[in-house]
Amino acid sequence: MLERHKIHYLERIIVSKTPLIGKTSLIGKTSLIGKTSLIGLSKAQIITSLIDIGLNQKEAKMRSSQLWRWIYVNGVTDFTPMSNISKDFQKTLEQHFSLERPMLVSEQTSNDGTRKWLFRFFNKSDANAQPVDVETVYIPEKTRGTLCISSQVGCTLTCSFCHTGTQRLVRNLTSEELLSQILMARELLGDFPNGVRPSNGLVPNIEKRAITNLVLMGMGEPLYNYDNVKAAMLIASDGDAISLSKRRITLSTSGVVPYIEPAGEELGVMLAISLHAVRDDLRNELVPINKKWPIKDLLEACRNYPGLSNARRITFEYVMLKGINDSDTDAKELVRLLAKIPAKINLIPFNPWPNSPYECSDWERIEAFGDIVNRAGYASPIRTPRGRDIDAACGQLKSKSERIRKNKNNT
Ligand code: SAH
Ligand code: SF4
Repeated sequence: MLERHKIHYLERIIVSKTPLIGKTSLIGKTSLIGKTSLIGLSKAQIITSLIDIGLNQKEAKMRSSQLWRWIYVNGVTDFTPMSNISKDFQKTLEQHFSLERPMLVSEQTSNDGTRKWLFRFFNKSDANAQPVDVETVYIPEKTRGTLCISSQVGCTLTCSFCHTGTQRLVRNLTSEELLSQILMARELLGDFPNGVRPSNGLVPNIEKRAITNLVLMGMGEPLYNYDNVKAAMLIASDGDAISLSKRRITLSTSGVVPYIEPAGEELGVMLAISLHAVRDDLRNELVPINKKWPIKDLLEACRNYPGLSNARRITFEYVMLKGINDSDTDAKELVRLLAKIPAKINLIPFNPWPNSPYECSDWERIEAFGDIVNRAGYASPIRTPRGRDIDAACGQLKSKSERIRKNKNNT
């Protein structure tokens, strides 16, 4: 039986000294002595790593399956609980590999039960590099719990309504860091065997798992970090690892057209497109990547999305900006544009952030817009803003990490 860490919760921020934090903060130190993290490695990569330290192919294969189970199903953070691995071999593994997680810097819990965590990751390949801070959000509902993970620290794109867009890209997150957000959340929500559910906030009334759905909708553009996102999602959806159904994983993109088809082909996850405008001139302003891949090209890629069907629709996200993109004419044009694409339209009330240049459309306007879309036969749920009081809602995420400039001209 695994001994789970007891985690203490405070109402607002914990810059805590919980056992988890003490443990995870070792991550920087172990990386300095050159250990490879096993988190984020495919089974094949683990096999290669084990052969490198002297195992034969057959044994390495068997061990890689055991290790995956311990890491992703049981959620261990060191080798000692691995009861089907001898003490001696545990020591060998310990010498070469690490399973450590990021540091938990803070946790905030919203009045509506949404949780926002700030995780600190140390750079494993460069001991002198600054650590980076990443926000991850958990949104509980009655029958499901959605984890929203970040794919980058900051973003290269500068969508004018998005807080993350005001933070320059610091770096891409590695597959280890993508998966570590999920592992940390599972730990903190008591999702591993013998885990302890938090006593404050709402955790859905689900017997087995607090996290039932995963969305790549945190900081960053996942399709600009494709290889790491791919590696991580293949592990998140693998039945031998985190085992989330691909139908319950949604990748949201601002429209990196060349990667849309590969994402469907290789990951098979659900796709969400941040559309937000129906005319190129306006979309160029709101979602500047539109200058590179305009609406026509984007929708063409959507029509060709592998596996698209009425049972597997694309979600189009549409942020409601007062007086900007919320007229009846916009709604009608939206319907026209999406003709023949199996789609669902998520109307997102704009979430404000400090000095944001927009206002959220009035509720009646959002409903009137939604009615037009609905009458055309598209489901158009209005997404209830969640976690606004702790700046955890869509588009409000931003960490304090900055890219260190080598010199003034290197921007
Ligand atoms: N980079 C990806 C995923 C992260 S953003 C993308 O752009 O799709 C996740 C979602 O939040 C996107 O639909 C984005 O357009 C939306 N969003 C960004 N800022 C927002 C804000 N201030 N209010 C509401 N939604 C916002
Ligand atoms: Fe980046 Fe998405 Fe924000 Fe645009 S909306 S700046 S792509 S995170």
